[in-house]
Amino acid sequence: MRTDALFIGIEVADDHAADPDLAARLEEVCPVDIYAAAEDGGGVRIVEDNVDECVLCRLCLDASPPGAVRVLKLYEDGAEL
Ligand code: SF4
Repeated sequence: MRTDALFIGIEVADDHAADPDLAARLEEVCPVDIYAAAEDGGGVRIVEDNVDECVLCRLCLDASPPGAVRVLKLYEDGAEL
């Protein structure tokens, strides 16, 4: 799944997006609440209204398996964080 705001895009690989443990970790680490654990335990939800608040801290990347989450800087031609 991918959600693009104006400056930032967030992509969670489909084979990881349904993982409730990953969803809980992402919800916990992101300082600006870009991730939420779906209420039905169904995995990661991207909170579209918060996406442009990203502070490029990399905490979501550190909390995820390699390649599961991508933070894309749309203002730099989509360069990956
Ligand atoms: S880089 Fe930081 S602020 Fe941006 S989505 Fe990841 S955890 Fe949230």
